[in-house]
Amino acid sequence: MSKESIYNCPHCGEKSFNPFSKALAGGLNSRGKVCKSCGRRCCNGKVSTIVSAVVYVVALVAVLLCYFLIDNNTIAYLLMAGCIVAAWLFCKLFDAFFMPLTKVIRNDIRS
Ligand SMILES: [Zn+2]
Repeated sequence: MSKESIYNCPHCGEKSFNPFSKALAGGLNSRGKVCKSCGRRCCNGKVSTIVSAVVYVVALVAVLLCYFLIDNNTIAYLLMAGCIVAAWLFCKLFDAFFMPLTKVIRNDIRS
């Protein structure tokens, strides 16, 4: 068994993920990503789901603040788009570099 790492598959323990594939694995409600060595599905855990929920709420508040506080429409729309992109990016980076992978708990997936 390879060294303990957040990129280890929770099913077989192999280090079959990297920051990029882990970021694309999605959260608990996603289909997850298939492990290269055992073929079972893995995704990011509960913490990732909570963090992304919080980040999107913060982004939404920021978007509303931009909408109400900035008179210049062009700048307001640019900032609003920026908030959403930043929130998305933050979630992907969080998934890529923090918290271990977990087994996909959804059982309605036919692989
Ligand atoms: Zn595996």
